[in-house]
Amino acid sequence: MNTLNDYNFSNKKALIRVDFNVPLNDQGQVTDDTRLRAAVPTIKKVIEDGGSVILMSHLGRPKNGPEEKFSLRHILSELSALLGTVVQFANDCIGDEATAKAKTLQSGEVLLLENVRFYKEETAGDRAFAEKLSVLGDIYVNDAFGTAHRAHASTTIVAEFFEDKCCGFVMQQELDNAKKVLENASRPFTAIMGGAKISDKILIVERLLDVVDHLLIGGGMSYTFFKALGGQIGNSLVEEDKLDLAKELIQKAKEKGVELHLPKDSVASMEFSNASEIKVVDNYAIADGWMGLDIGPEAAEVFSGIIEKSKTILWNGPMGVFEMSNFAKGTHRVAEAVVAATEAGGFSLIGGGDSAAAVNQLGYGDKVSYVSTGGGALLEFMEGKVLPGVAALG
Ligand code: AMP
Repeated sequence: MNTLNDYNFSNKKALIRVDFNVPLNDQGQVTDDTRLRAAVPTIKKVIEDGGSVILMSHLGRPKNGPEEKFSLRHILSELSALLGTVVQFANDCIGDEATAKAKTLQSGEVLLLENVRFYKEETAGDRAFAEKLSVLGDIYVNDAFGTAHRAHASTTIVAEFFEDKCCGFVMQQELDNAKKVLENASRPFTAIMGGAKISDKILIVERLLDVVDHLLIGGGMSYTFFKALGGQIGNSLVEEDKLDLAKELIQKAKEKGVELHLPKDSVASMEFSNASEIKVVDNYAIADGWMGLDIGPEAAEVFSGIIEKSKTILWNGPMGVFEMSNFAKGTHRVAEAVVAATEAGGFSLIGGGDSAAAVNQLGYGDKVSYVSTGGGALLEFMEGKVLPGVAALG
């Protein structure tokens, strides 16, 4: 696969698929610009070579064509400020206006196309639609790691129409960091898995059992393990159809010499609310009516002790309902330990989604080794799946 540095973009138009799927508030303002910032080095490389840039992305999940709240126009001023140049805008990602604006683009200029998902052809991976996008540029660059696991028109199919194509810096970094962890980890290697459901993470957990020394399991998914081990988990989240699987994973960990650590205690509540009473409970004996919504103080100490001694850390999924302050302490304690391990010379990779949000919320984004921009894509890559967006660049 070619990378950005394999090309000189002088007098070339780069058609770059970026991931500008950023969160917006009710006023349409960007509330987290991580993904915009991430794309800057790729865009600047093309400009500094003397090329021009045409950016395409999706934003949100529009259902039936154009919807004002999902317009990429909302990010225009923010992006212009980050790049230090006025970014032009095309009201449609294909058609006459986009084609004319792309054609007259001068070296150093940047054009942002409207949301590609205003066309259902995008997610359908429609060839004719992909061809219409392809006429806008000379070289195709895919820098949208977050959607690389989808064979959409702008992420995968469009690449068929280009001789010259490569990954951008974000994509390259994401793949390099994931490989570093999977293939070249310094030990001890600790994976921290959390979040709501075990069913979403089975494949990655199985794969990790081949490479890690410690596997820490927190969040909603841990209660399925306690139930499988004969514990009373009250009203905590459970996947009844995954009890056998949980037992198998415990067995497999033993066979492979992986230390699987479950949290000893939880912060529990009777309601899924930040206002209701909380208490610390033992995870084998949670009373009826109570549900575990965060790892407890003892578990947080045990987990952070293991993390702080680790040389490689992979973290995916919060330790509790970190969106509510009463249930955020475990996730915060883990984040602090990941930072400490990184400061001590370890390598830490934070899987996208909620764990990335938690790390950024705490202002720790720069204190860990790498925060992935792609949740699902990172998991699929780590599971060993071929990402269509990456394969298309080959
Ligand atoms: P995931 O997308 O699977 O990583 O799950 C993230 C979500 O899991 C977050 O929104 C958390 O609020 C939620 N979560 C974490 N721990 C628990 C728990 N103990 N009970 C219910 N939800 C949880």
